[in-house]
Amino acid sequence: MLDSILHELIQKNGPITQSQFMEYALQHPEYGYYRTNLAVSKDFITAPEICQVFGELIGAWATDIYHQLNEPTKLSVIELGPGKGTLITDFLRVINSISKSFFKAIDLTLVEINPHLKDLQKSYIQHLVNWVDRIEDIPESQHPIIMIANEFFDALPTANYKRQDNKLYERHVSVANKKFHFIYRYLRNDQGPNTIWEESSATKKIMEQICHILLKQSGVFLCIDYGYESGSGDTLQAIYHGEPSDPLDHIGNSDLTCHVNFAHLKSIAQRKGLGVMGPISQRDFLKNMGLDMRVNVLKRTNPEHAASLEAAVTRLTNPLQMGTIFNVIAVFSPHTIKPAGF
Ligand code: SAH
Repeated sequence: MLDSILHELIQKNGPITQSQFMEYALQHPEYGYYRTNLAVSKDFITAPEICQVFGELIGAWATDIYHQLNEPTKLSVIELGPGKGTLITDFLRVINSISKSFFKAIDLTLVEINPHLKDLQKSYIQHLVNWVDRIEDIPESQHPIIMIANEFFDALPTANYKRQDNKLYERHVSVANKKFHFIYRYLRNDQGPNTIWEESSATKKIMEQICHILLKQSGVFLCIDYGYESGSGDTLQAIYHGEPSDPLDHIGNSDLTCHVNFAHLKSIAQRKGLGVMGPISQRDFLKNMGLDMRVNVLKRTNPEHAASLEAAVTRLTNPLQMGTIFNVIAVFSPHTIKPAGF
């Protein structure tokens, strides 16, 4: 269905940018991948889905922040793109067992555009939740805030630019012989070395909104994602039924992602005057937060799961798997906060 919508649009108005293409493919209200599919666990498995310890360690991390914020009586916890709600469930369970006062103080908001995932979260999460579709719909409050996003930014529309022979081009999607294909369209002359890079204005806008909220209410944003600190090139990927596929096939039915540019997130936060820790690898963050100790406790209490726990740890930390391609950054205000794990 999205195929014919995009065909018609391109026939009428000409090629669309990669960003516009991703926005249609992922967010079209009726046919976009993140509107129609139960995505998580079908096409990809995320870290909290691999092992409960992931969400638990983030719960322990947040408890430390709660103490550093002088144990406020109300604290907003916000998760962006909670998927099946696994992370927040493990997060809340651990907080309930280690700090009843923190658990009671939590005012929980989940930012989720997918109505099917929202239903799933409703059936799964045993906690009072305020759901909103977009970050701008988060209700204003005076409370300090802990915000979490795991694999959220990589799902946002991203543009692709190329500089060649001092000319700047942007990648577009066009149609020829009823088939979609990528083309670079000339934008303007631009002095500099030949290179290809990506920019996400959606990511920039959301990061600026997060910084604004943190400056107003104080608190921390913890972001974990697939990405790089410095890099360039084309990182657009499609996954269809769990297998890599061509981003221009199965439009609306395959998951599209681009690597997150952590240097960019960091510079937005620093320009706004916020404190920043990281990025560091997911492997180092989890190990610094006590991954091995927690897994050893679980192995002792559940010896029958020892092998699967070991396999999960390898998957989360091995540099050939999720260990180093996933990075973690914390952004905070005021500067007196010292987020653990870095
Ligand atoms: N954090 C979860 C799921 C990651 S998948 C986990 O770690 O398991 C990305 C999530 O972000 C999904 O829940 C998806 O529906 C949601 N999402 C994607 N684009 C979004 C957008 N523009 N606004 C709000 N949520 C979005």
